[in-house]
Formats: sequence, C-alpha cells, structure tokens
Amino acid sequence: MLEAVAPQKDVDGFHPDNVGRLTIGAPRFVPCTPAGVMEMLAATGIALAGRDAVIVGRSNIVGKPMAMLLLHQGATVTICHSRTRDLGDHTRRADIVVAAVGRPQLLGADMVKPGAVVIDVGINRLSDGKLVGDVAFDALLGKASHITPVPGGVGPMTVAMLMANTVRAAELGQA
Ligand code: NAP
Repeated sequence: MLEAVAPQKDVDGFHPDNVGRLTIGAPRFVPCTPAGVMEMLAATGIALAGRDAVIVGRSNIVGKPMAMLLLHQGATVTICHSRTRDLGDHTRRADIVVAAVGRPQLLGADMVKPGAVVIDVGINRLSDGKLVGDVAFDALLGKASHITPVPGGVGPMTVAMLMANTVRAAELGQA
C-alpha cells in the first residue's frame, strides 16, 4: 500500500522514498500534520535548536516524522509511547511537548512544566459528542506559554499543508 502512489505524487509523504528523504534531511513531501506543527512552532518565534522536545506517540504518520523535523532543527528529541515507563517524568522536562496519542486529556497540568509549548495533535470524541485533544487544555491555559486548541488547532494546519503539498506535486509534475 505504501508504494501504491508514485513518490512524486505522494502528497501525504508516506511513501518509503519520501520517508527516507525526510530522514536524511532532503524532504520532498513532509507529512502534513507534522509539517503543520512545524509551521505553528515557527509562528511562536522560539528557536528550536537546543530545546528539549518530547513527542508522545510514535506513529509513522505523526510521531516519527515529527521527531525527524524537530531533530533537523536542532532540538533534543525524546519519543514516548505506550511502553514508556514514566511519561510525566519525560514531559515535565520538555520545552516543547507534542501529544499525538488518541487518549482524551492524557496530559494534565501536572505533566507539563511552566512556560512549555504544548501542541495537541489528538482528536478524541467523548461519549457526549464533544471533541477533545490529548491535553487538558483548560488546565494548561496560563501554565503553558503556547497551547493549541482542539478542535481548531493542528487539524486546520494539516489541511493547509495538504494543499501546499498538492501544489508542490503539481509543480513537480510540470518540471
Ligand atoms: P496511532 O497510530 O494510534 O499512535 C498512537 C501512539 O500513541 C502510539 O505510538 C502509541 O504507542 C501511543 N500511545 C497510546 N497510548 C499511550 C499512552 N497511554 N501513553 C503514551 N503513549 C501512548 O495514532 P496517530 O495516527 O499517530 O494519531 C494520534 C492522534 O492524533 C489521534 O487522536 C488522531 O486522531 C490524531 N490525529 C490528528 C491529526 C490532525 O490533523 N489533527 C492528524 C493525524 C492524527 P505504541 O506505539 O506503543 O502503541
């Protein structure tokens, strides 16, 4: 499946060719969600080099490419996952936390240090129909220096990056 789409048209950036390019720092198409997160981090004006970044989630579509992008910007990157022993021990040390898990409000205020940048990729629908992220947004407002809402945060950026990749694919096709 991963190789069903030609790498030059792979606007999701999931083809092994594009994954490899991202890994060596020569990206063609960057997966849309992590690309959107990088745009948001750039908008904060915070230099990423030397920062401690903790990503919760190691999926191929979010966690791993997110780690590569932050690594290439000079951040010190830790990837946490379901087998991580003490999640809070890692997230509390982070200058930047990216939550991409799919567990409603997994990260509470006690798991993030004051002033951290918190990016919530998670989308979870509760039994009452409400949409929430992986982060306890209300509890972290005022503690985090920056925090993204769910909905209306990373999701629209993902769509915007998909459009950008699609335009790029069209341009590559004309070359
Ligand atoms: P996924 O493939 O299910 O990966 C989830 C990751 O979270 C896995 O690496 C898993 O660890 C880890 N995990 C699960 N429970 C954990 C826990 N208790 N503590 C620490 N780590 C835990 O999900 P995904 O595709 O990356 O998506 C993650 C979330 O982001 C979902 O809510 C999805 O809907 C959302 N999402 C949003 C956008 C957007 O545009 N906003 C885009 C994509 C995804 P293991 O690897 O050990 O199982």
